[in-house]
Parts: sequence; structure tokens; C-alpha cells
Amino acid sequence: MGKAKKWLYGLFFSCVPILLALIMIAGAIDMTMNMIEGDKKGGSEINAETIAGLPQWITVDMVRAAVQMQTETHYPSSVVLGQMILEAGAGGSELANPPYYNCLGQKAPSHGQNGTVSMQTEEAWGTEVAEFSTFANYVDCMKAWGHKFTMDPYVKRVTACPTDPKTGHYEANAFIKAVWESGYATDSQYVQKVIGIMTSYDLYKFNSMSVGDVGMGKPSKPSKPPGSGKGRFTHPCPDMTEQTSYFGEIREFETGGHKGNDYAAPVGTTTYAADDGVVTIAGWSNSAGLWVVIDHGDGLVTKYMHHSALLVEAGYEVVRGQPIGEVGSTGQSTGPHLHFQVEVNGTAVNPDDYLE
Ligand SMILES: [Zn+2]
Repeated sequence: MGKAKKWLYGLFFSCVPILLALIMIAGAIDMTMNMIEGDKKGGSEINAETIAGLPQWITVDMVRAAVQMQTETHYPSSVVLGQMILEAGAGGSELANPPYYNCLGQKAPSHGQNGTVSMQTEEAWGTEVAEFSTFANYVDCMKAWGHKFTMDPYVKRVTACPTDPKTGHYEANAFIKAVWESGYATDSQYVQKVIGIMTSYDLYKFNSMSVGDVGMGKPSKPSKPPGSGKGRFTHPCPDMTEQTSYFGEIREFETGGHKGNDYAAPVGTTTYAADDGVVTIAGWSNSAGLWVVIDHGDGLVTKYMHHSALLVEAGYEVVRGQPIGEVGSTGQSTGPHLHFQVEVNGTAVNPDDYLE
């Protein structure tokens, strides 16, 4: 073996333990960061993992809202989620998504609605146009649902249900039976159907969960997201917890300034197209993770990185404010956030100058 080769081998083997140590340190930092993040936000037990296996259109925000409503009214979250799955059928309708947040198909007027929208629905007897409630967020939607059962004709039977001694919430199977006996649905199999869904999707586990009250009761959309106030873009992550990095920020682990803004948000938080455009990339990159690139014409391009899930595909024409993905921590990322980048003719520019 030549001298140079020996030296190379030596270098390689001396690097292995250092590399291993670095990987372990990185892992430990990541775990600690996740723990801190979870503590800070509350409700950390409900995340993308907890809701895995539920129908695709059900988001972490919807489930958290169901559990929040359960905490306040003792209405079992397994029941409302079961009803939501049964009654939404195909689900994921326009009405269930932002900006309407009506994931339970509640007709107007509802307790705490912030407006109404007229939509065509499929009913047993054919299609009809109905007036539906719109809500500021899923918590308000769930609260409106819970509120309905604190009144006639439900309240008497519902409040007579046995409660779980540990949580104080009504027992789920008895509760759905009481709702049906009060005249909620004419379908004679309704109770069995909801119980079947609660069983097959393992919804009962949510009945012992709770969410921290941090940030859950406030409106989803901050009244004034950061921005110069002059631009044409709508905020790509209005439900963020906080902005954790700014354009141009110098950080130790990268060369040059930060090319965009970072918006920290729980995994599953919706991200939106900043403006009308065509999706040119919706896929995987080792650095950007699951990312979306939108071409707005005239050399203006926006990039959205680190998603846990994408809601668009390359070639889609999107409109301003259309949901495009869910926040995650994929690619080179140390915690759940959206990296939002604006480019003019290939050069990154300050997103704040383009935000309304
Ligand atoms: Zn970033």
C-alpha cells in the first residue's frame, strides 16, 4: 500500500467516529428541539402521526378543534369525528377547507359563524342549493356543533348520558345513541354506523386527549400578518406561530444571507399560494424537502419548502390564497416551518416587499 493511500485510509477511519458523534449530537438537538416545540404549543399529542390512518382530508387542525370542543362541552371527540367522516362522505369539500372552515357541513345560521356561503349539495332527494355557515377557524366550527347539542331537542337525553370518571366527558356510544333518540337522524342504522366508524378508525383514543389552550381559542388568521403592507401577495402561512427567520439574516450554517422568510407552525398547518400562477414544481428535493414552486409570470417566482404534504401537482393553475400544502420539517430543516422565498429573474428578493 502506497503512503498516500495509507494516509487516506487513516483519514477515513479517523473521520468515522467524528461523523458518528456529529450525527448523534444532531439527533439529540433535534429531539430536544421537538420537545421544546411541543411543550410550547400544547396539544403536542395530536400531530400528523396521531391522525395517520384517518381519511386524507382530515387535518391536524380539525382534530385539535374537535378535542378542544370536547374539553369545553364534554361532547366526545370520537363522536364528532365519526359524524364528520360519515356525513362528509367523500369529504374534503370546498366548504370544509379554508377560508370556510365548515368541516361539518353546518347550515346557516350557526352559533359563532362569521358569514355564510351558498353552495349546491347532494341530498337524498337530489341536489339543492343551501346556505352554509362559514367560520373563522375549525375551533369555531366545532364549538357551533357542540352548542347545538346543549339545546332542545338534544340537551335532556345528552346530559343524562354516563360520563367517564377520569375525563368527565360523556361516554361515546351512549352519547351518539342519545343524539339519535333525540331525532337527529332518520336512518335506523345511524348509531351503528357511527360506532362502526369510531371503531375502525380507532377514534376512541381521542376521547382521553386534551389540547393546551395556547393559541387554540384565537382566530386562525392573525389580523395583520407581517409584510410591508404595500405588496400584492397574500400571506403564505397566516396560521403560523411566529416568524423565526428573516430574509437576509446571516446564519452560521449557511453561506450568504437567508434567501427567504421562515414561518414556524405546527405540522399540518395549511400553506397558501401567495398569488395566481402556475405550479412548475411540486415534489421532493433533498434540501427543500417537499416543495412547491409557482411561476407568476414576468420573471416572478415563489418557492415554498419543507412541507409534510402537498396539495397541488406540477401543471396546476392556482389562484391567490389557494391551499397548496401542509407545514412539515422535510429536507434540511430543524423544526416544522414554511420557508417562503420570492425570486425575480432568478434572484431572491425580500418577501416582505411583496406581502400585502
Ligand atoms: Zn428558511
